[in-house]
Amino acid sequence: MYRSHSCGELRESHIGKTVTLSGWVAKTRDKGFVVWVDLRDRYGITQLVLDEDRTSKELLEQARNLGREFVIQIKGEVIERTSKNANIPTGNIEVLVSELTILNESKTPPFTIENETDGGEDLRMKYRYLDIRRNPVKNNLIFRSKVTMEVRKFLSGEGFIEVETPYLIKSTPEGARDFVVPSRMNEGQFYALPQSPQTFKQLLMVGGMDKYFQIVKCFRDEDLRADRQPEFTQIDCEMAFVEQEDILNVFENLTKYLLKEVNGVEIESFPRMTYDDAMAKYGNDKPDIRFGMEFAELNSVAQHKEFGVFNSAELVVGIAVPSAASYTRKELDALVNWVKRPQVGANGMVYVKCNEDGSFKSTVDKFYDQDDLTKWAEATGAKPGDLICVLSGDANKTRTQLSALRMEMATRLGLRKPNEFAPLWVVDFPLLELDEETGHYHAMHHPFTSPKPGQLELLDTDPGAVRANAYDLVLNGNEIGGGSIRIHDKDMQATMFKHLGFTPEEAKAQFGFLMDAFQYGAPPHGGLAFGLDRLVAILGGQETIRDFIAFPKNNSGRDVMIDAPAPIDNAQLKELNLKLDIQE
Ligand code: ASP
Repeated sequence: MYRSHSCGELRESHIGKTVTLSGWVAKTRDKGFVVWVDLRDRYGITQLVLDEDRTSKELLEQARNLGREFVIQIKGEVIERTSKNANIPTGNIEVLVSELTILNESKTPPFTIENETDGGEDLRMKYRYLDIRRNPVKNNLIFRSKVTMEVRKFLSGEGFIEVETPYLIKSTPEGARDFVVPSRMNEGQFYALPQSPQTFKQLLMVGGMDKYFQIVKCFRDEDLRADRQPEFTQIDCEMAFVEQEDILNVFENLTKYLLKEVNGVEIESFPRMTYDDAMAKYGNDKPDIRFGMEFAELNSVAQHKEFGVFNSAELVVGIAVPSAASYTRKELDALVNWVKRPQVGANGMVYVKCNEDGSFKSTVDKFYDQDDLTKWAEATGAKPGDLICVLSGDANKTRTQLSALRMEMATRLGLRKPNEFAPLWVVDFPLLELDEETGHYHAMHHPFTSPKPGQLELLDTDPGAVRANAYDLVLNGNEIGGGSIRIHDKDMQATMFKHLGFTPEEAKAQFGFLMDAFQYGAPPHGGLAFGLDRLVAILGGQETIRDFIAFPKNNSGRDVMIDAPAPIDNAQLKELNLKLDIQE
């Protein structure tokens, strides 16, 4: 028997008992006549003690020579500690060691295995197995496990069946590049790894599975942005014989359940906002509504004077930043420079200080009088002490820029509180999105999303105006889930492919299997997928999804621990019939 108890288990009630523990040496303290060892495992730390009075010389010597992270097993008696440690649950006791076995030695770890470590990100990732011994990482993995267990509990309670779908498939269009896998047995042919199980879950609906879910890996070869993972996990769901309302209800309930079980937070019901409103009010389709600073369009109160910048703008839009009128000139200049950074891209910013005495001081006092500025204050809801920030230009770009400023100011003002949860549904997304570069429309969600009833005709005349039965669940400014009611009619699906620029032959080659299935009694269906990594991070009150993944990739998509991706040898290339232009 390696252990009778864990290192987090022993309390005063165990005093007098003989116990066996196994774990890692976190620390030894050698006071000469007495040696203490902190023994660590997943469950906690227990202090071991050996001294000249009660321990044999050899044993004391052995303890003295233990290195950090040695794996040991000890036997001993639980005794009361003289100086207690109120910070840890085992702090009232220690174990007087009578036997000690070294199960395995360890090299000195490259960073300290402490809550606050001296190891940088790269080093921690290279030795991730050591990083996982640290409480913050370990606790995140345990937290993730709890969330997934709760998800399974809830969904199976609602009658959902977990079905696995294949990883070696062909392209599923979710808007990214595919990772491909060469087939040895089919020369010159490739599988694609799923960007999502989208088509398979729809086929499960045709198969009558009715309520499906899967906690599943998805693979998307995208240019990596900060905190994106090329492989990530979804809670993927689909239901048959449902309308949008049914789906929103089930998954609102799932989210409420998780917030309650995991965070102890109860939320009545989630607000809903159309995509158009979200863009107009927050410049963003995933608004963070934990705080205000809603957009106010100022065209009608700002385009009647001689200020050319505003007069020539498609949109003049502002926000009232609470208590920022006290910013110094230097701080304000810095803010203007912040919005002019290429990452934000504004040409400049007009601001108005709302003084405590009700007067205003703006950067455009030459053009606008106090009455004008009063109207801006009314529109933005600015109070004395606030700062009105105004951007102008092309409507879409300006909204995006102001949204960036809104989020930045919220962060600076501490308004994005990690333990506050503000979920909402964003509904009525556009069906199509114009690709500025190619001038073509592509599906905003994916090509299987159905247009709202009666809007099909608009596809020919005003494609950008067509609204979809598509919805996102947003939590604290992050899209944590998204889905749609699908097309289940073969002809409508064919029409959609046509509008997306597929020839009938291309559509058949890529999605013939789905259109075929639609000929055999496809029920009305719809679903959604949650991004599990992000959901867990937000519920855990943190920003970085990497911290909740056991073995994540870095920002260049590399696993630095196993050193992947890596070249393969020529024999393997040959076997796969891959003719790479490399030297023999
Ligand atoms: N497959 C979609 C996605 O990955 C989710 C859905 O429509 O259910 O975003």
